[in-house]
Amino acid sequence: MPHLAGIHIAGVSIAGLETCIDLPELRMAFDLGRAYDFALARPLLCFTHPHMDHIGAVGWHCSTRAMRKMPVPTYLVGHEWVAEFDAMMQAWRALDRSELPHRRIAIGPGEEHALQKDLLLRPFRSHHRAPCQGYGIWKRTHKLRPQYKELPEQEIAALRQSLRQSLGPERASETLLCAQEQLELAFTGDTRIDVLDSAPELRKARVLVMECSFLDDRVPVERAREMGHVHLDEIIARAEEFENEALLLTHFSERYSSAEIERLLERRLPEGLRQRVTPLVEGRRN
Ligand SMILES: [Zn+2]
Ligand SMILES: [Zn+2]
Repeated sequence: MPHLAGIHIAGVSIAGLETCIDLPELRMAFDLGRAYDFALARPLLCFTHPHMDHIGAVGWHCSTRAMRKMPVPTYLVGHEWVAEFDAMMQAWRALDRSELPHRRIAIGPGEEHALQKDLLLRPFRSHHRAPCQGYGIWKRTHKLRPQYKELPEQEIAALRQSLRQSLGPERASETLLCAQEQLELAFTGDTRIDVLDSAPELRKARVLVMECSFLDDRVPVERAREMGHVHLDEIIARAEEFENEALLLTHFSERYSSAEIERLLERRLPEGLRQRVTPLVEGRRN
């Protein structure tokens, strides 16, 4: 899988069967519908919703990491289904006669989880048949406040030094710098296209990983919406809205072969969008 706007993204996603969006550099993945060796190396899994094709392999992930004496994994799950998630893991402990050690964090829109210093994970609401949330990865950068921008470097260094002495390091940098945030990557999970309205920041994410389950009239738009999914017609109708450097489309129905997906996107997407769109066709018949 290529780098999209400098971010390495891999994984597999086929509607109803399996989804795992892998971010090797961040050592994390979104969803785990099926057991993959590559996912074992990820200590952080962020789940969008509890459909089987997105969560089915969590027990395997947990128990195999424990068997291999790997560090305890962390699972992020939505508040709406955390009780059932815990009950499921509890049942598996009884069935498997094992501890299944894991750290479970319930999280939802309006909350955040720090990935690294200045790299934050924030859920947003998606619109599906089951309670679903996408995740945005936000990068925080610090810039000089406008009033200091014109100062020569030496003066800034001296100012920083004296502020540090009088205020301490933390308040000194607060005085000099202001924080800016950029949405580096967003993954929608399963959703209707309405997620672009409820989370308009997605249109400006550097990389948008969005589901697009249906590509032509074999499943009409209305049917796609009933099932809580995106249809390519809806992306085409809103093509102007996508300001992303790159879009990775995922979760195509298994009725489409990879060649068919490439052909339909090539033929149907408007020029300005087509060059920025990559389909995730891993693990699919040709
Ligand atoms: Zn799905
Ligand atoms: Zn689903």
